[in-house]
Amino acid sequence: MIEELKEDPCKDLQSIASLAPTICRLMNIPPPLSSGAAIISQVINEFNLTQSKIIDKVLIYSPDAIGREFYYKHSALFQSVRDHAPIEATLCSIFPPKTPVCFASMFTGAPPEIHGIKEYRRPVVQCDTLFDVLVRERKNVAIVAVTGSSMDVIFRHRDIDYYSKRYDEQATERALELIEQGLHDVIVVYNQEYDDVLHRTTPESPEAINAVMNHVDSFNRIASAVEEHWKGFKSFIAFTPDHGAHIDKISRKGTHGDNVPEDMQVVHLYGITDG
Ligand SMILES: [Zn+2]
Repeated sequence: MIEELKEDPCKDLQSIASLAPTICRLMNIPPPLSSGAAIISQVINEFNLTQSKIIDKVLIYSPDAIGREFYYKHSALFQSVRDHAPIEATLCSIFPPKTPVCFASMFTGAPPEIHGIKEYRRPVVQCDTLFDVLVRERKNVAIVAVTGSSMDVIFRHRDIDYYSKRYDEQATERALELIEQGLHDVIVVYNQEYDDVLHRTTPESPEAINAVMNHVDSFNRIASAVEEHWKGFKSFIAFTPDHGAHIDKISRKGTHGDNVPEDMQVVHLYGITDG
């Protein structure tokens, strides 16, 4: 039997690991020591990076498991996200496309061999992360995530503020309060309903589409709050899923973890508010 030759789903794509050094470049601070990833080219092209510092504050909203395939098939759903964050970058996820592996790369700029999470395991990341750089630069950082989620546990033991919430809605509400208070330079918000629903059903079930609509709504509320309350600051807002998903041939339910385009390709959306 001849094995089918599959094209590399990451061919010609930068990876989500580029998020960490890109944020550092925008804030004019050094990248994490562990980072080997290049700055995201769409961001370089869009913004004038010759200025010494262009960004004061950052808001990252990471909805779990929204892949490029879903994004393009349901493009109209994301129009309001693009209104806040119009710069679109198609990026490759990290193999295996499992949440802790991906977030460890997104916030270190490093591959699994360096950050150490190579499978679905959730130890605290030991190598230098975006959060460590931000602490060294005396920035105030908050991670707002669902209790016990990967984002809630793998970046612990840093001198930053951790908000563990019951579910997405509470995380979003807390993020809105933090934005209004204005005490943080960088806030990361994690939501997980779409990932939960796609594993129970399929990636495009009516419930799954509804979950994505909830994520879009949460992002829009958060982005609007940034625009309203972070006046006087230049802010970077980002919509940054970790990986995609596909239908498992045996269970007929949604899953992810394979080296296929549906799992490995994502679209990130970025915007800058002028303050
Ligand atoms: Zn995930």
